[in-house]
Amino acid sequence: MEKKVIIIGGGLSGLIAGSYLRMNGYETEVFEMHSLPGGLCTSWQKKGYTIDGCIHWLVGSGPSDNFYNLWNELIDLTKLSFVNHEVYHHVEDAEGKMIRIFCNIDRLEAELLDKAPEDARLIRTLCRAVRKLSRYNFPNDKATGEMNLADGLKFLTRTIPCLGIMRKYIHMTASEYALQYKNPILQKAFEHMFVPEMSVLFLFFTLAWMNKGSAGYPVGGSLAFARLFEEKYLQLGGLIHYSSKVKRIIYSPYEESIVASGIELENGEIHSSDIVISAADGYSTIWEMLEGKFLDRKVVSVYHDFKLFPSYLQVSLGIKGKLDVPNHCMLLPLEKPVMIDPETETGQLQVLVHHFDPTLAPEGSTLVTSLIPTYYAEYWTQLKKNEPEAYNFEKQRVAGILIRLLEKRFGIRQEHIEMTDVSSPATVIRYTNNRNGSFEGWLLHPNTGFRRISKTLAGLNNFYMIGQWVEPGGGLPSCLMSGRNVTRIICKKDGRKFRNRVYRLTGT
Ligand SMILES: Cc1cc2nc3c(=O)[nH]c(=O)nc-3n(C[C@H](O)[C@H](O)[C@H](O)COP(=O)(O)OP(=O)(O)OC[C@H]3O[C@@H](n4cnc5c(N)ncnc54)[C@H](O)[C@@H]3O)c2cc1C
Repeated sequence: MEKKVIIIGGGLSGLIAGSYLRMNGYETEVFEMHSLPGGLCTSWQKKGYTIDGCIHWLVGSGPSDNFYNLWNELIDLTKLSFVNHEVYHHVEDAEGKMIRIFCNIDRLEAELLDKAPEDARLIRTLCRAVRKLSRYNFPNDKATGEMNLADGLKFLTRTIPCLGIMRKYIHMTASEYALQYKNPILQKAFEHMFVPEMSVLFLFFTLAWMNKGSAGYPVGGSLAFARLFEEKYLQLGGLIHYSSKVKRIIYSPYEESIVASGIELENGEIHSSDIVISAADGYSTIWEMLEGKFLDRKVVSVYHDFKLFPSYLQVSLGIKGKLDVPNHCMLLPLEKPVMIDPETETGQLQVLVHHFDPTLAPEGSTLVTSLIPTYYAEYWTQLKKNEPEAYNFEKQRVAGILIRLLEKRFGIRQEHIEMTDVSSPATVIRYTNNRNGSFEGWLLHPNTGFRRISKTLAGLNNFYMIGQWVEPGGGLPSCLMSGRNVTRIICKKDGRKFRNRVYRLTGT
C-alpha cells in the first residue's frame, strides 16, 4: 500500500511537494484553509480588473538559469508568455531628474555612468559583480545532506569565482550599500529597490537574473500561475481540501520515538497519515499546531535571531483610459513625508503600471498598484478587529496618498478612477496566516547570512517543514526547491530512487 502524506497549506510549496510526492508513488492530501490555491501567490477580481498580488519576476523564467529545467518538470514554461522588462525600475527626485535601472547590464552601466559620473568607481564594481553572477547557477538538483564529495567539489569549483562577491555583500544591508553612493537618486534607487534592511547581495543577484533574461513576469498574473500547479497536482492524482484549516498536528508514540500521525481540522475532523508536511506559516506550525512541544535551541534561536520581511499595504487603482508613463515601475517622491501608520513614514511611493499585462485591465483602461511596506501589522489587525470604520477610513486615506501623487505627476483626476482597492497586513494574515503578514518569510539579512534552517523538529519523526519559513529569502524558487528536496529526502529514507516525472509502465 502507498504511504500517505498530509500536506498543510496549498500555497506553491505545498502544491509542488504534493506533485513530486505523487510522481514518486505517495498518496497525498493537501489541506488549505483558504478557498483557493496559491497562498501569497495570488490575484483577485474587482470591477473587471484582476489585481495582481505577487509575481514581479520569476527566477528561471528563461533557459539561462537552471531553475528553468526544474520549473519544466512541473509546468510547461514554453506555453507561458513572459515579459522581460527593458527597465526594471525608474527612480525620480522632486526636480524630475531620473535614473533608470535597466535590466541589461551594459545599458545599466551606461545609464549610471551618464547620470552619476561621481560614482563611477562603485558603478563599475557593481556591474563587474553582476556580470560575474550572471554566469553563476545555484546548484539545485540535490537536497543539502544528499550531496557527496564529488557534488561538493563541483559546487566549490563553480562557486569560487563568485565567493568574494558573496562574502562581501551578504554582510551589507541595501541601506549601507546605498549610502556609499554620492548621487542622491542612486542612493534612493539602491535603498528602496527591495527592502532597505535586506542583505544587498540579493539585489546583485536580482540584477544578474534580469541581465540574463531569466526573471520574467508571466502574463495572466499570479493566481493563473498558481492554478497551473494546482492543475498539475490534481492531474497526478493528488487530493486537495479547501476551506480546511488545520488546528493541530497529531503525534503518537511509535516504538522508542514519537511520530507525526495526522492532523485535526478546526471543525474537529481527524485525518491520519504516515507523514505530515507543513507548508504553512512556521510560527503557527511550531507553537500552535504542535503547541511548542518540539523545541530545541536551534529552532528557538531562529525565531529569535532572524528578521522578517515586512508586511505591506497594496493600493490598487483602476483608471479609465491608458495612463501614459515613461516606465512601468517608478519610485516617485511625495511632496512631503507622510505617515502610513503610527510607526511607518515614507517620502516616496513605488508605482507599478500594469500595461505589460493586458489581461489585468478592461480594454483601454489601466491598472496601477503600489506596495507600501510596513512592519506594524499589529496596528492594522487590531484596528480592523476593534474599529472597523477607522480601519476602512485609514485604508482610504492611504489610497488618497497615491491618488494625489498620480494627480500631480500624471494629471489623473478623481473621476478617472473607477476602481479602488486597498489590502492591508490584516488582509494578508486573514488569507494566508503568515506571521506578521510578512510577504516573503525570513529576510536574507547580514546578521544571519547563509545560515540554514532545519526542515525537521527535534524529537518528532515523520514530520517536515517546507516553504518560505525554512528557506531564508523566500520567493517562488524556494517553494520549488523545498517541495522537491523534501520529496528527495523522503524517497531516500524509504529506499526509493527519486523520480522527477511520471514514468510510463511497460505496456501501458
Ligand atoms: C506582494 C508580493 C510580491 C512577491 N513577489 C515575488 C516575486 O516577484 N518573485 C518571487 O519569487 N516571489 C515573490 N513573492 C514571494 C512569494 O510569493 C512567496 O515567498 C511564496 O509564494 C511563498 O509560498 P509558500 O507556499 O511557502 O507560502 P504561502 O504562500 O504563505 O502558502 C502557505 C499556505 O498555507 C495556508 N495555511 C496557513 N495556515 C494554515 C492552516 N492552519 N491550515 C491550512 N492551511 C494553512 C495558507 O492559506 C497558504 O495558502 C512575493 C510575495 C508578495 C506577497
